[in-house]
Amino acid sequence: MSLPDPHAASTHIEGDQSASSDSFLLFQSTILENVRDSVIVTDLQHRITYWNHASTQLFGYTPEEILGHTPDHLYPQVDEAQRIHDFQELYEQQEDVDEWQGRRKDGSLVWIDVKSTILRDADDNILGFLSISRDITERKEAEERLRRSQERYRLVAENVSDIISLVDLNGNWRYVSPSLKTLLGYEPGELIGTSTFTLVHPDELAVIQKGFADALAGQKVHTIARYKHKDGRWIILETSGIAIFDERGQVDRIVCTSTDITERTELEKRKDEFISMASHELKTPVTSIKAYTQVLRNRFQKRGDDETVHFLQRMDAQLTKLSTLINDLLDITKMQAGKITYREEQFQLDELVKEIVENVQEMTPTHRLQLTSEENISIYGDRDRLGQVVINLLTNAIKYSPGADKVCISVVRQDKQAIVSVQDFGIGIDKIHQEKIFERFYQVTDPLEKTFPGLGIGLYISSEIIKRYHGSMSFESEKGVGSTFSFHLPLQ
Ligand code: ADP
Repeated sequence: MSLPDPHAASTHIEGDQSASSDSFLLFQSTILENVRDSVIVTDLQHRITYWNHASTQLFGYTPEEILGHTPDHLYPQVDEAQRIHDFQELYEQQEDVDEWQGRRKDGSLVWIDVKSTILRDADDNILGFLSISRDITERKEAEERLRRSQERYRLVAENVSDIISLVDLNGNWRYVSPSLKTLLGYEPGELIGTSTFTLVHPDELAVIQKGFADALAGQKVHTIARYKHKDGRWIILETSGIAIFDERGQVDRIVCTSTDITERTELEKRKDEFISMASHELKTPVTSIKAYTQVLRNRFQKRGDDETVHFLQRMDAQLTKLSTLINDLLDITKMQAGKITYREEQFQLDELVKEIVENVQEMTPTHRLQLTSEENISIYGDRDRLGQVVINLLTNAIKYSPGADKVCISVVRQDKQAIVSVQDFGIGIDKIHQEKIFERFYQVTDPLEKTFPGLGIGLYISSEIIKRYHGSMSFESEKGVGSTFSFHLPLQ
């Protein structure tokens, strides 16, 4: 068998050379010289007898340099034992496919995938061996990068105190980090393949199932639920979950991180109980001091002692502030425990706002309260609680605009909603704080600004009240320019 080179002599396999087979072999050789894969033929003595153009491009040797040599030095990492093993496989299976690291003429390394076949003549005698190779360095390097980054993630997952887990589309655990043992008492192997829902407290199962469905739909989810420890205790886990997708863009797994918040929740509960108890204890004496102040004021008024009456009035105003604060603290703890009571009735929202604006104006010498209001806006809800929201927005507007002299209030009906807005021209709120402003105990602290008294609970209570009536609260604010706080309530 002979393969004449169409351009230069690159083949030296001996055989007949009749005229007709010559043109066929030339045709074959032209193809072999133009394919992208490296094609190498070795004889029974393991010497290279054919070396195509792609082989020169892959390894850097010309046919003149390589023909007649063994290909061993092209594969420095394949030792004698491996070579014998590969030959045996080749004889048994007629074909061997492998991935090897090759060395180029300039010494650099290249990853190739090699397919080796035995070459036989018509009588089934072995003539030699054919290897077809392709450069797969890029793929190998990408695989290595992926392997290294997976290794890094694995190291992170196995060394954090949170549980990191992968959940499949049926809600079964596919991977759980070793911290599972510390947090829930199980070895990861005990849970792999079982449903994540089995350990969830029955009361919270619906929440977790909804969270799982939302995550499958591509949402980033956040849940808090109790999970049963192996020893029977309930552990509160705060979990964030997000879907990861396969190459076709389909959800493949949900990756979750779960933090044990049992202790934190217990502490918060104790703190709430303390606040609740302390404000209860404070409420009774403050109420009776306020009553005595009023009695005294009436007495001094009758005697015509205007100066003392004036002092007692100021004392009464401070006591009102104190009892508002105590009531807020009581409300917040009741809200946390879901124990707040509402007295619902039908009432005119515009009239309520007007009444409050007039009352607050009486006590506010610094600002003009300008009210524009539509009439006959009838609402069903707790008049006092909704009044509490209006008072909160108004007192904030006044408190946080010490350099201004007016606050604008509007009550309008729009798209089947009643909207109450309170606009001030005060210090405004920086963008970075805006997201958290409705959180419990959140106060903007800015070292450059004067500090304002307060506990950071008014807006939290207000938004909880508005939520109860299926409404919403919103605000627009610009630092140094002012803020507009609004609440929207659906009209029946
Ligand atoms: P606080 O009793 O501290 O006023 P709130 O819950 O009513 O508590 O308000 C939370 C925080 O939001 C306040 O501490 C303040 O930083 C900011 N804030 C509320 N209303 C305004 C406003 N009208 N202008 C600027 N900042 C405001």
